[in-house]
Amino acid sequence: MATSKKVVIIGSGSAAYTAAIYAARANLDPLVFAGVAMGGQLMITSDIENFPGFPEPIAGPELMDRMQKQVQRLGVTIIQEYVAKVDFSKRPFHIETTEGTAASAQAVIVATGANAKWLGLPSEKRLMGHGVSACATCDGFFFKKKEVLVVGGGDTALEEANFLTNFASKVTLIHRRDALRGSKIMQDRAKKNPKISFIWDSAIDEILGSDHVEGARLKNVKTGAKTELACDGVFMAIGHAPTTAFLGGQLKLDENGYILADDRTRTSVPGVFAAGDVMDSRYRQAVTAAGNGCKAALEAERWLAEMGLH
Ligand code: NAP
Repeated sequence: MATSKKVVIIGSGSAAYTAAIYAARANLDPLVFAGVAMGGQLMITSDIENFPGFPEPIAGPELMDRMQKQVQRLGVTIIQEYVAKVDFSKRPFHIETTEGTAASAQAVIVATGANAKWLGLPSEKRLMGHGVSACATCDGFFFKKKEVLVVGGGDTALEEANFLTNFASKVTLIHRRDALRGSKIMQDRAKKNPKISFIWDSAIDEILGSDHVEGARLKNVKTGAKTELACDGVFMAIGHAPTTAFLGGQLKLDENGYILADDRTRTSVPGVFAAGDVMDSRYRQAVTAAGNGCKAALEAERWLAEMGLH
């Protein structure tokens, strides 16, 4: 028997939890399907200095823990299972998890975020967890006094590189162009850090090592020249891909796979709203995701009222 709800929220990042806070305070008694690895991308973010209200930096997992406690204090049920499929073809909508837990809902807020991208090299897959990682916060500790590479030129790469200098003796940032994409403040911080060096116009051609990372073969994308560099770890920081597979093509997506939603968070299906990184490839900030989550809950409430359901 499926639980019947007015609002179901899928996700557990700052968008999902903010939506849950607003929906709970609107007496919508929402249900949250949070997934198993709760907390979203902030769980793999170190110090957050740009979330208002925290004059001192706060660690991503701590911020998420606080958000979760806030949601729970408001009486919201959080189910720690992944949604496997949804049926948005008729109302109430149907949501089902990989464990077979089912719920029906008059309105759904999708806030499933985006996951780290990988290069797609066989050696990367083979050595994942053996020196290859996409999370410095999770794995940096294992690289005390070791030499590591970070791949990418955005804020994530710069943040990972800076964070890794807490452990590693040397961090080399490998970027496929000769200009960084990350923010000025992060660039300046990385460039000033004596443990960080940069290799420009280069891509990882292969990660070397049989059962653990021993180095990487780099290819200069301008000259085609290949060089080998010894290292103990390789951290991927090349962006994210939105989590939308469980939607089974029922919502319109943009060309990069992000959910198409208007500025009121409305998707292509009336009654289904989207918030956070799963619909925002541009800002992807904890605070913008939270703002989106707030909008989605307010819009869901309005929509339910218009339909005479709230
Ligand atoms: P991003 O800005 O999309 O940067 C991805 C980087 O990886 C780019 O430099 C890109 O190169 C490179 N790249 C992509 N695919 C590649 C491939 N196949 N091989 C090699 N390199 C590849 O992603 P992000 O750094 O994860 O940041 C996403 C958003 O989160 C941004 O808005 C960022 O500001 C935000 N963010 C903020 C903070 C913070 O404020 N504390 C921290 C982390 C992230 P090109 O430059 O050539 O495209």
